[in-house]
Amino acid sequence: MAISRRLLRARNLTLALVSCLGPISLSAQTSASPLTAHQQLARDIYKELIEINTTTDADPGGTTQAAEAMAARLRSAGFTGADVQVLSSGPRDGNLVARLRGSGVGGRKPILLLAHLDVVAARREDWTMDPFTFAEKDGFYYGRGTSDDKAMAAIWIANLIRMKQEGFVPDRDLIVALTADEEGGDHNGVEWLLANKRELVDAAYALNEGGGGFLKQGKPFVHNVQAAEKVYYDFKLEVRNKGGHSSRPTKDNAIYRLSNALARVEKHDFPVMLNEVTRAYFERLAQAETGQTAADMRAVAKNPTDAAAVRRLSASPVYNSMLRTTCVATQLEGGHAPNALPQLARANVNCRVLPDHDVKDVHAALVRLAGDTAVHVSALPTARGAPPSPLTPEVLQPIEKLTREMWPGVPVVPVMSTGATDGRPLRQNGIPTYGVSGLFGDMDDSRAHGRDERMLVKSFFEGHEFLYRLVKELAGRKPVS
Ligand SMILES: [Zn+2]
Repeated sequence: MAISRRLLRARNLTLALVSCLGPISLSAQTSASPLTAHQQLARDIYKELIEINTTTDADPGGTTQAAEAMAARLRSAGFTGADVQVLSSGPRDGNLVARLRGSGVGGRKPILLLAHLDVVAARREDWTMDPFTFAEKDGFYYGRGTSDDKAMAAIWIANLIRMKQEGFVPDRDLIVALTADEEGGDHNGVEWLLANKRELVDAAYALNEGGGGFLKQGKPFVHNVQAAEKVYYDFKLEVRNKGGHSSRPTKDNAIYRLSNALARVEKHDFPVMLNEVTRAYFERLAQAETGQTAADMRAVAKNPTDAAAVRRLSASPVYNSMLRTTCVATQLEGGHAPNALPQLARANVNCRVLPDHDVKDVHAALVRLAGDTAVHVSALPTARGAPPSPLTPEVLQPIEKLTREMWPGVPVVPVMSTGATDGRPLRQNGIPTYGVSGLFGDMDDSRAHGRDERMLVKSFFEGHEFLYRLVKELAGRKPVS
């Protein structure tokens, strides 16, 4: 590391001058340059994790095997006893929990470093290569889990070993948890740990997946920090009717009644409701955007009732999903024969509810939009959301500082996910969670859950370095005396 960075400093003097730590984005390895010992370790761990099939359905027991493999690496690096444990949330669902002891000076609670071990199914015939053989090609690492979420899992383990080897004593404990069943399955590791082993994972806050950087035409564009998630709900709209012969139609028709209700859902926009995270999202993203879009983002962040700005931004499905709760028809069934009046018409309406929007209001709105006592809306769900995590300077400032050093000019953008991660149960249990990784990928070519999943080699080592520095910043500062 030292040699390559010195050479780069000579070549990039101006960049080196603006950053005392050096222009890491330029010094990150490509496949052509030799890896440092720390990078080689991270790569080896990454490869080992990719090659253990942790698909929950296809190969039960994979997460246990992966958790045991990581435990073995930590034990041979000097972690002992209760500081490295494999715990099962289900019959064959292993979770690894490891702890690097801090000095305790300052009395701060631990930081939880989280990643999930399980992956989404990948079929050999869908892929160009074997999804469970780690491959490096054209500057990318390929394999199921390379982006979701084994890069972070490997980095947490590699960095914990690196810190141990260096004799780094954080001011607080660092906990690494690699967990099962995030993608599905019945034994979600985080929920199980929170319910049964809270003392092992209790923390001031957690760092998790869900963030990371976007590349636009190959260049770093924004660095996202996930601090909130929308909540997923499905509602059924259903009309039943006594039916009859279609040669003698009645005005009372189940399909028409449902269609009219759906047409009202289509026209309805839920109100714009910004929270701390989405307000910051629009403010910061305005720095990366240009022209009218940037102006609209600034306007909405300042005044969410600016109708013209809201209307223009809402034309983008991405921005619209950040502004408000959305509900959309996703499935339809009805009728039982081409020559019979329908006895049943049913639709699924999928809602993504803002974390601080009461689902009771959403349900009430659907009942009102159904506008017809014959249209039955399914009952209020019991699942609940989680509050956005506060954008505390303690966490945000180090992320911003390191982002400036490693990717100068790239804004740090707080984001709300429209999908789900393990951040939800953590936030529900009072552990603020930040999706942050320093792992950059093409914003228009996400292959998580898809075929030929991959990670830029350069991005992997940048994320590796970023998270190493970030955790040290968060847990290595001198306490104020
Ligand atoms: Zn994931």
